[in-house]
Amino acid sequence: MNTHTVAGVEVSGDHWIGGRRVSSAETFDDVSPIDEQVIATIAKGGPAEADAAVAAARLAFPAWSATSPAERARLMHRIADLVEERLEQLARVETADNGALLRSHLRGVMPRVAHNFRFFADYLVNDLHHGDFDTRGHRNHVTWDPSGVAVLITPWNAPLMLATWKVAPALAAGCTVVLKPAEWSPLTASLLADITHEAGLPEGVFNVVQGYGDDVGDALTGHPGISRISFTGSVPTARLIARSAAANLTPCSFELGGKSPMIVFADADMESAVANAVEQYDNAGQVCLAGVRLLVQDTVRDEFVARFVERAAQLRQGDPRDLDTDIGPNVSREHFERIDGFVQRAKAAGAEAVLGGGPNTELGGLYYRPTLFAGAEPGSEILTQEVFGPVLTLQTFATEDEAVALANGTEFGLAGVLFTGDPERAERVGARLVAGTLWVNCFFVRDLRAPFGGSRHSGVGREGGTWSFDFYCDVKNTCTNQERWTV
Ligand code: ADP
Repeated sequence: MNTHTVAGVEVSGDHWIGGRRVSSAETFDDVSPIDEQVIATIAKGGPAEADAAVAAARLAFPAWSATSPAERARLMHRIADLVEERLEQLARVETADNGALLRSHLRGVMPRVAHNFRFFADYLVNDLHHGDFDTRGHRNHVTWDPSGVAVLITPWNAPLMLATWKVAPALAAGCTVVLKPAEWSPLTASLLADITHEAGLPEGVFNVVQGYGDDVGDALTGHPGISRISFTGSVPTARLIARSAAANLTPCSFELGGKSPMIVFADADMESAVANAVEQYDNAGQVCLAGVRLLVQDTVRDEFVARFVERAAQLRQGDPRDLDTDIGPNVSREHFERIDGFVQRAKAAGAEAVLGGGPNTELGGLYYRPTLFAGAEPGSEILTQEVFGPVLTLQTFATEDEAVALANGTEFGLAGVLFTGDPERAERVGARLVAGTLWVNCFFVRDLRAPFGGSRHSGVGREGGTWSFDFYCDVKNTCTNQERWTV
């Protein structure tokens, strides 16, 4: 048995296929970003494990898809109960695995994991309906039929939260699931497998396959036996998955990167705007939704920068297990070097680091200083490419037209953050922004009933509420002539 004790918690490094642990001949090391030590060895799946997991999920599908919504919901609430019981363990393991703050895991992320299950369970039972409508005496009735096996491919920045945001609706929809977590953060998916087992989920309904994206990930997404692919990750990977999926015309839902703008007009509540701007460093900048391009009206630029720098200076960087820490390490050496590459190239190209601008040499390891660039060349890499680290940029504008042009001036369209004291301006400007989610005078307020996804290269499709069921199900309209019944 390939088990490890991580942060005091027993975790299996093996796959979970058909209700049992399965190992692979090869393994890979799971390294903690906190001290770059190996904390577990993980089974490295390939095409054989992908086949086995899809076969198990297909075998389980007929019974699971025929289970009543009430029973599916009951099991999902049981999973949520167990997540809540083990909240601290899950939080500790996730922090060891991806370096994100223990404080956030305890207070926000893991409660949200449980909520993902409760929300979609309740939504299935109470809210999933469409009113019948009549066409010349014919009744139209819409149903959501489970589609089959959903393959879920997830990233490392919020591993269990993002995984369960897909797992929960897929299970509620009556699909069976194969989850492939990111190779940099494989552990909490493994703990979730234990939880689903203890909750009594029938074997094969939920499967976890570990391994690398271009190996087992590719085998899963190109598999002819699956019905859906939901992926959160980078644009280049989405292109590869779309290509794999094309062979079987498998429908895909993609939630991809962003380079979202945070627009601050001079009439905004400046205290709140500055506080929210500094929040964009959360999770060491590894948040797809972050408003990383600060677009500030020129008349308040100096005031904004002064207040921003003062506030950012109060952020405490350090060990993510310490509950007082505000910014932890980045996820891996490779990613850290990538972030530093962006920063050094931006400096070389003439951008001014108003704040930070390099690794935190006092802490060493994978700690990168919160950085703010001003004066970057329009169209340059640092203003257009996703860094996914604690690196923000500042640009100024004079008019609404200029603000909108800057905001929409990348290939992305995931989110937008808008700060203004004028509701009419908010409506005017908001209507012109390209984004799947727009926050006005707030940030990161999320409701699972809301559609979530990206425009342009930030994504394909929307999930959340009914949109999730629309994706995981085959939506069917039954049109019945009401006058031809004979019994
Ligand atoms: P990031 O840049 O956020 O690490 P990636 O897109 O590389 O994002 O990875 C997100 C997830 O996609 C991970 O689980 C990774 O293993 C998986 N992945 C990477 N390449 C492929 C691929 N070719 N096919 C399927 N999944 C992949």
